[in-house]
Amino acid sequence: MFFIKQHMNKHEGIIRCISLSMIVIASGLFISIPFLKSAKIEKLNRLESASCMPDLDHLCRTDVKERGWEYIVIHHSATAKGNAARFDQYHKKKKGWEYGLAYHFVIGNGSFSGNGEIEIGNRWKKQIHGAHTANMNCNRVAIGICLVGDFENGGSPSETQFESLVNLVQYLSRKYNIPSSNILEHKHVHQKSTACPGKNFPFAELKTRLLQIASKSSNHKEL
Ligand SMILES: [Zn+2]
Repeated sequence: MFFIKQHMNKHEGIIRCISLSMIVIASGLFISIPFLKSAKIEKLNRLESASCMPDLDHLCRTDVKERGWEYIVIHHSATAKGNAARFDQYHKKKKGWEYGLAYHFVIGNGSFSGNGEIEIGNRWKKQIHGAHTANMNCNRVAIGICLVGDFENGGSPSETQFESLVNLVQYLSRKYNIPSSNILEHKHVHQKSTACPGKNFPFAELKTRLLQIASKSSNHKEL
């Protein structure tokens, strides 16, 4: 009898020990889950704010009164490499354009400027019309953004380059109240036949991303 009791006590002890361990593990989970969750959110927030960098308000400031921009036209450079300074020289010397760089913004691919780096053209600083389409009426009211790369015969924009574009287009369209229907690819401006910004440019994805950001920010406003 004593042996049985001792035996049972031993079992009870093991069971108690296991139960206690399970409680400890379970409470550990309860304690650690919120921490894991908040760490994840913090990481996402950091990623979101990192992708919003640089400060576009600061970057897009102008030297003169801003024009009433109505459209955004997206281009590729149709070259594997380049940056704003190189295109500026080309447009001044080869094209003979007084104001140089045809675009307002150039987004680098890591060749002669950073991957995803947004360069600001003189036309933006001075709020001069663009020279990025063959339609002068369009150039007067359309912001020209050029991504370095050949998306017709080469690959597609780099992920970082595309993120910068999403942020820049979202910023500009919100600032100037430009509707989604007025965000165009160069080939949509049908004055001159062009494939720009190329068949590999993910235009539908750009529109989806902009819609997602817009609905997210309107949800935040409702909250
Ligand atoms: Zn173009």
